[in-house]
Amino acid sequence: MLRAFHTFYLLRVMVKILLSFFNVNNEHLFKEVRNCIPHGSHRKFLIKEMHEGGLMGNFGAGKTLIMLKEKFFWPHMRKEVQRHCFSCLTCLHALSIASTPWEDISMDFVLGLPRTSRGVDSIFVAVDYFSKMAHFIPCRKVDDASNIANLFFKFVVRLHRLPKTIVFDRDTKFLSHFWRTL
Ligand SMILES: [Zn+2]
Repeated sequence: MLRAFHTFYLLRVMVKILLSFFNVNNEHLFKEVRNCIPHGSHRKFLIKEMHEGGLMGNFGAGKTLIMLKEKFFWPHMRKEVQRHCFSCLTCLHALSIASTPWEDISMDFVLGLPRTSRGVDSIFVAVDYFSKMAHFIPCRKVDDASNIANLFFKFVVRLHRLPKTIVFDRDTKFLSHFWRTL
């Protein structure tokens, strides 16, 4: 009888301690400051967003997990993050090709920023797959492929070399013209 009482008491204390970590705010469940994410596609979406993380993205599983854990909580997060990162096609592609700095790169644009007095309103970004180093080059939204090729030569090729492969997701016409100009 006494033993049963003890067990019951211990259980109550444990549940109380566990519950003290959780709180509800605006109908969202939080574990301390981290938003608890229920089962479903949201988890996959969050992992993908965090892993890809904008232009400098495709972070490793460790960094993706750290960033995710800052804001969110769900059980077995680590396993799901690892599964996603280790099967990410972009990462596998980068791993399989990159062996020397600035040989395989990706390019992208950040368009539509507030225009400066010099007419600059966009940023041309070139990222090296191998070192993950990036160049951020101010440009204009109206710049065409040959203008961008000039900037590329001035800021990237002169410092490194002409890359072997360039990944540019936006516009294949732009890229082919770009290559011809180079
Ligand atoms: Zn990736």
